[in-house]
Amino acid sequence: MIDRAKTILGDVFGYSEFRPHQLKIIENVLKKRDTLVIMPTGGGKSLCYQIPALIFKGLTVVVSPLISLMKDQVEQLTELAVPAVFLNSSLSSKEYNRNVERLKKNGVRLLYLAPEALPTQGILSLLSSLQVDCLAIDEAHCISEWGHDFRPEYRQIVEVRSRFPSAACVALTATATPRVQEDIKYNLKFDVSNEFIAGFNRENLFIQVTPKNNPVSQTINFLEKYPDQSGIIYCFSRRQVDDLYEILKSRGYSIRSYHAGLSDAERTRNQELFIRDDVRIIAATIAFGMGINKPNVRFVIHFDLPKNIETYYQEIGRAGRDGLRAHCLLLFSYGDIRKIKYFINRKDENEQRIANIHLNALLQFIETDMCRRRPLLTYFGEDYTAEKCDMCDNCLAGERKLIDITVPAQKFLSCVKRTDEIFGANHIIDVLRGSESQKVFKFGHEKLSTYGIGKEYSRKQWFHLARQFIQKGLMIQDAKYGGLKLTGRTYDVFKGREIVFGMLEEDLDYSKEKGRETEYEYNRVLFDKLREKRKELADKAGVPPYVIFPDKTLIEMAAFYPRSEESLLCIHGVGSVKSQKYGSIFLNIIDGYCREHHIEERPCKKRKALSDIREPARESRKRRYVIIGEAYNAGKSIEGIMAEFSINLNTVINNLYKYLQAGHTLRPDGILELSTISSDQQDIVLKTFHSLGTEFLRPVFDALDGEINYEELRIFRLYYLSSKVNPKESFLL
Ligand code: ADP
Ligand code: ZN
Repeated sequence: MIDRAKTILGDVFGYSEFRPHQLKIIENVLKKRDTLVIMPTGGGKSLCYQIPALIFKGLTVVVSPLISLMKDQVEQLTELAVPAVFLNSSLSSKEYNRNVERLKKNGVRLLYLAPEALPTQGILSLLSSLQVDCLAIDEAHCISEWGHDFRPEYRQIVEVRSRFPSAACVALTATATPRVQEDIKYNLKFDVSNEFIAGFNRENLFIQVTPKNNPVSQTINFLEKYPDQSGIIYCFSRRQVDDLYEILKSRGYSIRSYHAGLSDAERTRNQELFIRDDVRIIAATIAFGMGINKPNVRFVIHFDLPKNIETYYQEIGRAGRDGLRAHCLLLFSYGDIRKIKYFINRKDENEQRIANIHLNALLQFIETDMCRRRPLLTYFGEDYTAEKCDMCDNCLAGERKLIDITVPAQKFLSCVKRTDEIFGANHIIDVLRGSESQKVFKFGHEKLSTYGIGKEYSRKQWFHLARQFIQKGLMIQDAKYGGLKLTGRTYDVFKGREIVFGMLEEDLDYSKEKGRETEYEYNRVLFDKLREKRKELADKAGVPPYVIFPDKTLIEMAAFYPRSEESLLCIHGVGSVKSQKYGSIFLNIIDGYCREHHIEERPCKKRKALSDIREPARESRKRRYVIIGEAYNAGKSIEGIMAEFSINLNTVINNLYKYLQAGHTLRPDGILELSTISSDQQDIVLKTFHSLGTEFLRPVFDALDGEINYEELRIFRLYYLSSKVNPKESFLL
């Protein structure tokens, strides 16, 4: 059977090797075992049930929440000559009946259904007349209330499942926190032993978080770096989407918008244009993306802060499904946090608690100066141990050191004072840089002693500095009007009693530095010719271009110049069906080009495909923090845990913190013993947490004048939280 699976991989799909976990999952499914698959977007989940579907005698039923996804999969399978159909409301009754007839004749391997269709009488009686060997549940996190996308109709799958006891059940998702994973297995009554967690790391995504100071020009600068490439820009509100759309359109960008304010038809049309490479950019609210499978999304910009880490992870997950490099930029401002807080405060108490935990995790990700993959993956229960990923801004900026920024701080803060603490950063920077704006003259600020004393820094650098001054508590921003005000600590800076350390923003261009799009050079001119042909074929067939061939296939063609069918079959994504169907068309173009330019074919052995150079995922990481939390509560000492799991103190603390965040309780005794500071200091730290809250460590760190290091703070936060939820143990403040 395994050999069958391998043959199908090459012959039908045109791939040379399985991705991590795929083979084991397929084996498991073929043994008719229940299987939970957690794999990042683009990891190759579909193959995990598509290949078994081609081996099983009976039918594989795939439950998928979105019509567009079903359509996409069926189109791709049809291109590969795999009989697959869907049954849903988008079909005319004639088409519907035709599909039913095909099913009855056992001429179909995969049937795609929406969750709400599954328990209907018509479908149930149809299925009971057929042999169902496998039930695949896509986007399985929808079954859990703890997920970000709970769908009640998913709960009904359970009942249907019990009607087909001999069918293997495979549940798949890309986003599931440990809690959601538990929920999926619990709801589907799964056996624990059959889960495959491929890890959440998407190595091909370059992750960058940048202070948002002039978002429109930041966006335009970014877009300039990726001409001709597809991408998504996520905004918080419809209005923002519309504004941005107008601006970018007027500048000649190929862009459409997508949000709930558009009609269904407009939305579908815009999405379709994007998928078919007719439009390059989509500006969207979070509503966009669930139903798209477009593999060559090369960038995702978060123009506004995402709601939480899960949403963020899912949204950036839409980039780089093809395994090639993609760039994810998040523009971040504290103003956005206020917006989110405003919405959180309107929820009921329990919802507020969950939302605050989510927001907190998001902030940890944003504020970190370590590798961004750490907080991101930690959130999903994964222990990311690599020092550096080399694919995030922090890792590349590692060499940037903290410098003394006392002088710019003094300039900025005194300018705030002289303008009477009512203006926002924009105006202060205008004054500092000696702008001749109307507003400056209107208030007579050109006469101030701070006018024009800050020309040595760009606007962008000043914004970045200003943000650091706020973060460090040297000034605060009025929540309502955005005016900046001084704090008690400002005077220490004025008087030179406090030295301020921080960073000076340099203009780093991450678009080219690391992780080029591919590991080898390819011929752009030939690539464009092939792309043109692909578009023509796609339009004729009425499918998106990637259904014909993904970008990676064309890139490999333009790198190795295959001249025969045999060589062509070595190219990624070319199996026997596609080779027969399109081989000669593409070979002709390559051949013509090579003759004209005297280019020889390059040897292309069955190389490892680009995306296979991923680190083999470690399987045993599942819910480690739960195991650690439980061990600790059962009386194991922290040192004991460090030894047992071979992890350092920090990792233990992080795991226990995560355990708490997931809603468990923790025994507080034993935690304080890890601390090395005096008991007087301990008191102060606890009081500081009490007054500033545990959401951010930085304000606590700053409030304690940086005297207590972060490691201590983490210990105390853990202690503070664990004793708070155990009132018996609570300390007196
Ligand atoms: P997911 O559903 O996990 O997001 P898909 O199943 O859509 O991912 O797969 C992502 C892309 O990777 C698809 O274009 C798919 O054809 C490709 N792919 C899957 N498995 C392999 C493999 N073993 N080798 C090469 N490409 C693969
Ligand atoms: Zn990194």
